[in-house]
Amino acid sequence: MAKSVIASSNKIRRLAPRHPRRLVLKKTTTLPISIFGNVLKQIDQAAKLLDLDKSLINFIKMPRRSTICNLPVRMDDGTYKIFVGYRVQHSIARGPAKGGIRYHPDVTLDEVQALAAWMTWKCAVVNIPFGGGKGGVICDPNKMSVGELERLTRRYAADMMHVLGPESDVPAPDVGTGPQVMAWIMDTISMHEGHAEPAAVTGKPLVLGGSKGRLEATGRGVMITIRETAARIGLDLSQATAAVQGFGNVGSVSARLLEEMGVKFTYISEVNGALHNPKGIDIKALSDYVKAKKTIVGFKGAVKANPKEIMFQKVDILIPAALENQITKTNASRVKCKILAEGANGPVTPEADVILKKKKITVIPDILCNAGGVTVSYFEWVQNRLGYFWTEEEVNRRLEEKMVMAFDDVWKSSADYKTTLRIGAFVLGIRRVVEVVALRGIHS
Ligand code: GLU
Repeated sequence: MAKSVIASSNKIRRLAPRHPRRLVLKKTTTLPISIFGNVLKQIDQAAKLLDLDKSLINFIKMPRRSTICNLPVRMDDGTYKIFVGYRVQHSIARGPAKGGIRYHPDVTLDEVQALAAWMTWKCAVVNIPFGGGKGGVICDPNKMSVGELERLTRRYAADMMHVLGPESDVPAPDVGTGPQVMAWIMDTISMHEGHAEPAAVTGKPLVLGGSKGRLEATGRGVMITIRETAARIGLDLSQATAAVQGFGNVGSVSARLLEEMGVKFTYISEVNGALHNPKGIDIKALSDYVKAKKTIVGFKGAVKANPKEIMFQKVDILIPAALENQITKTNASRVKCKILAEGANGPVTPEADVILKKKKITVIPDILCNAGGVTVSYFEWVQNRLGYFWTEEEVNRRLEEKMVMAFDDVWKSSADYKTTLRIGAFVLGIRRVVEVVALRGIHS
């Protein structure tokens, strides 16, 4: 017995390096950026300005609950494939967890936790009575049939039913999902409940209790925050140029609304390619083309450009409207715009923020810039619970009011705390959450 211990310890010694000091890891590999790590850095920066108790900061940082499910789905060829699905509730302090469900091959728990946390601060910034949540499934919706997507969605909804509900956690569309996926979730929950439960999800088709204006709401909110920023920094939108990365719902709607105000979109990109036209790309014509072809590639009203270079073109307004971590410490110095409007969630890392600030670029943070979507989701939830529906004018008027109020609050917060709009928005959101937590107390 003792012998074998000595033998094995000798073996370990033999395996140990003779000169352990030489065992310094070479900096040859770059670790992927943790998106939730980025959120924690943002919270820390804001919390520092607020002089909050450490244990309270820890409490508001961490997600309340993360649910992971293996979802078996029958594929069209008769085989079963297992998909991994997540639902994270970051906070329910101010109301039900609220946030979209993402279908994308690169979904990770780290990403969903980050997106859920951003929802908490986003809902607080626009002052709607929701907490933050997010869901995701690792899958490629472009490579699945409608039947496979429906079965995946129903299985996700059934397996997550114990955490979802109009009073507890309300999903909505995000990257890779839309009204049809919401309709299947609503139906699955309704079938289990035994009655129609429209308030269980938002972003539904109109005939199922969706809200007028919801489809356009995120893009409309992006336009409103750019308009307000331009007015503050003295940029004339009728003379401005812009670039948008991503021509999905958010990118295309914000581009269309800004084009109506005179903005010229000289660069537009998506994963498959990019377009350039110094005179401005016709957004309406491009939207019609994309509707038919499902891609911007091959559009005749522009020349081809390099999608990897879109962020670094000389334009007044840059709208990243795709995924996270696009502008990082390695490329931020190449960004040349005046206003960077985050249509996507998390496109700029905290390290890149520092560089953009030095370059005097005004960054409209995601938790303000793209909050129009969840704001109209709130209106949809209210209408579902009332059983009474508003006109599109009414929805847009209320959205305008909420977004301008949130914009003014964030602008004031960043001025009061002498910080960026991002940290100003975090300060505002954290203050609103902490106020509620302090009054409710922590149940332990
Ligand atoms: N997925 C959208 C977002 O990131 C909308 C969320 C919602 O409407 O609940 O804000």
